[in-house]
Amino acid sequence: MTRTGVDPAARVCKSSRTHNRDSHLQCKNGILGEMNGANMAEIQPLVAGNWKMNGLKPALGELKKLTNALGGASGANTDVMICPPFTLISSAAHQCNGSSVQIGAQDCHANESGAHTGDIAPEMLSDAGASAVIVGHSERRADHGETNDMVNAKAQAVWRAGLTAIICVGETDTQRKAGETLEVIANQLTGSIPDAATAANVVLAYEPVWAIGTGLTPTTDDVAEVHAAIRTQLEAMLPAGEGRKVRILYGGSVKPSNASELMAVPNVNGALVGGASLKADDFLGIIAAYT
Ligand code: PEP
Repeated sequence: MTRTGVDPAARVCKSSRTHNRDSHLQCKNGILGEMNGANMAEIQPLVAGNWKMNGLKPALGELKKLTNALGGASGANTDVMICPPFTLISSAAHQCNGSSVQIGAQDCHANESGAHTGDIAPEMLSDAGASAVIVGHSERRADHGETNDMVNAKAQAVWRAGLTAIICVGETDTQRKAGETLEVIANQLTGSIPDAATAANVVLAYEPVWAIGTGLTPTTDDVAEVHAAIRTQLEAMLPAGEGRKVRILYGGSVKPSNASELMAVPNVNGALVGGASLKADDFLGIIAAYT
């Protein structure tokens, strides 16, 4: 993920996590993929906050609390990102410059410019200081009729602007109750992930729609099953070795009280957090699952 003024190639993976990291790789485009000696991907986690349509200028005070608590870029063993509304991206990025917190956006148009009133191009988001863009969030899919094809096009547009695409997938409650979860996720992955996806340009977020903002979460066994299926499919879809390094985030009612349990599930490489990212203390409580 690029941040304004930072050469992504100059960012080097941190190897300070205590568990099982024998070597680390040079980051490509800021994505931090690390390998242990056991032929398994050891992946630097990402905890990303999605502020949705929340936050006026005073909300930057919460961001300040976050950066103060987390300190500078060096020493972080977990990547941390906040995706504020478009109106706050530029000031948030400015405020986070030199900190370990990256700024992302929540959506974009697939085109670079043109007659698209009210839309925003990924190039504009990059210009404002974003390093990543969430695409295909279930609220976009439901409220704006976004299809897998549209999400796919947006992800490619995000890359065109040199940013990382955080692609969201997740089943509805009806689909879950009909036993269709794995099939739904498989179809969303096939349709939404462009062929040129790599661990450097994509983060995947599994967000069961019924868990978003409801306080409900799947069992850890259910999360493990879906994340394992996503990992298997990513390994089959992506070019050599990339699928096992892609970060797969879990999202849906993550809070400080359940973060440790959810983040310990195999193939969960971080969290996409909505409500609990609005307050620095709550968000820090989630990040603490990795310390
Ligand atoms: C989200 O919408 O991405 C999300 C995970 O929301 P919440 O954490 O509030 O469930």
